[in-house]
Amino acid sequence: MLGLFRCVRSVPRFSQVQNYPLVTRRSLEKRNNIECGFHTTSPRAAIPPVVLIVLRPVLRVVAFVAGRNFRKWWRSLPKDKRQYYWSKIKENKWNIAGGGGVASAMAYWFYISHLEVEPITGRERFSIVSPKQIQELSQLEFDAICVEFANNILPINHPYYARVKRVANRLLHANKHLPQIYTKTWTITVLDDSKNMNAFVLPNGNIFVFTGMLNICTTDDELGMVLGHEISHCLLGHAGENVSREHLLESIKLVLIALAWAILPSDILSLLGYGIGAGAVNATLRYPYSRHLENEADQVGIHLAAKACFDVRAALAFWAKMDVIHEFDQFDSLEWLSTHPSHKTRHAKIEEQLPDAISFRKYCKCPDLPARDPRQELESFRRSISDSRTFKPPVGVFLTVPDMANSAVGRES
Ligand SMILES: [Zn+2]
Repeated sequence: MLGLFRCVRSVPRFSQVQNYPLVTRRSLEKRNNIECGFHTTSPRAAIPPVVLIVLRPVLRVVAFVAGRNFRKWWRSLPKDKRQYYWSKIKENKWNIAGGGGVASAMAYWFYISHLEVEPITGRERFSIVSPKQIQELSQLEFDAICVEFANNILPINHPYYARVKRVANRLLHANKHLPQIYTKTWTITVLDDSKNMNAFVLPNGNIFVFTGMLNICTTDDELGMVLGHEISHCLLGHAGENVSREHLLESIKLVLIALAWAILPSDILSLLGYGIGAGAVNATLRYPYSRHLENEADQVGIHLAAKACFDVRAALAFWAKMDVIHEFDQFDSLEWLSTHPSHKTRHAKIEEQLPDAISFRKYCKCPDLPARDPRQELESFRRSISDSRTFKPPVGVFLTVPDMANSAVGRES
């Protein structure tokens, strides 16, 4: 059974938006059409994202077959015929270079004409999916999650549900002047799985929290930080951004597949070459971008929580706890090969942002911070884990934004 609550609607006033610290002067000017760096268009995709997602494996096979057939055809040519084609290529090198230049210019134009300004942070981003398309993907994902976890959904009279509702309501009501909040119908779903320390939110405002996460968040302040982060992903439209970026990266990977099987002499070398190329794309483009979005959600989330008068120091306590769990996990993942920043990195970045968040909390006329710093609980948490013989650390702890580019038709981990 799903719980439902709607935010109180309010008309946003400019002064309220202006007071929000993450809105820069530049973004305000852009939002009010005072300054436009270059032409931007509304995000649109000629082909619906769901169709592109379904087509993705088909296109990979097409690229593989095309590349492999080209290699086969080239090898079957007699030597003089190959030399003839090489001489033709040399003769027309300027035409070929010109064609490549025009294609590159068109690709660049396509890219810049699909840039938009994210209204909260003022950051420019590539977007080829419309809000309506994201809503449809979100609904598909919501239905899939409800089917997948049908036996794990806690009833609305469960105390866990009441806790999440209390904390989420506090965040949403404190920030209800933001259009990204009051235009959505927010829902809460608590999933009963004590081994799963995750929480996530879908673009339509559907918040999901696993009981494992609730057990780790011992105070409402910590839960406020977690939900603030998740709600920020939703407000910042990160799911749509992910879908757009994935389509772009997939296009690069299709070219890599075709080239690897066309140029390299054997299937094994082609596979190896493609693996190295795809790994390089992930390590240099995909993962850093994903980590940037996580840091951005942390930054906005802590300000949402500050406006709701949570003790923002709890964010540091939470990530320090995650780091302790990670120590027991003894699994030292490489950050640059991960979609999420390491717990230590997140802790360090939040530590930098904490003074601003505390000042903003004061500015919002919140009561003074409690005398006891939530970080003081860390040692007792560490002891409780080391004393517990039954504690089984999770393989990974992530505050996730669902990978909508893949998940709508079958989620990937
Ligand atoms: Zn996240």
